[in-house]
Amino acid sequence: MSDIQHSDPDCIFCKLVSGKIPAKKVYEDEEIFAFHDINPWAPVHFLLIPKLHIPSMAQVGPEHAGLLGRMMALAPRLAQQEGCRPYPQGGFRLVCNTGGDGGQEVHHLHIHVIGGPRPWLKG
Ligand code: 5GP
Ligand code: ZN
Repeated sequence: MSDIQHSDPDCIFCKLVSGKIPAKKVYEDEEIFAFHDINPWAPVHFLLIPKLHIPSMAQVGPEHAGLLGRMMALAPRLAQQEGCRPYPQGGFRLVCNTGGDGGQEVHHLHIHVIGGPRPWLKG
């Protein structure tokens, strides 16, 4: 059994999921939420998160394989929907910062989906 709590009342991304803080929504289903990053580094920059409060990739176990697989499988469709140009000239970058050394600032698992014509502010 996972000891991950469904929602953390102090977590900013849980507040976005519940609507307590407004977000520019890109996608939502029963288990996944996607929204524009508040501080984009590229023409397309949104975050794909599980609704479940998983702090980071470090807490992911085999029980999350289906959920993470569905998030990864959704990324290309949402990237195209949000304006990433087609592969191979276009494409996008997926980034999942984990922990302090990984540069993670918000401790609710998220995948950055970044794309659009360069130059970008970072990366
Ligand atoms: P990390 O460094 O943890 O991988 O990235 C966290 C990301 O969340 C940053 O790119 C930051 O701009 C974004 N972010 C932080 N707070 C908010 C917020 O309240 N709303 C939105 N839309 N994005 C946020
Ligand atoms: Zn959370």
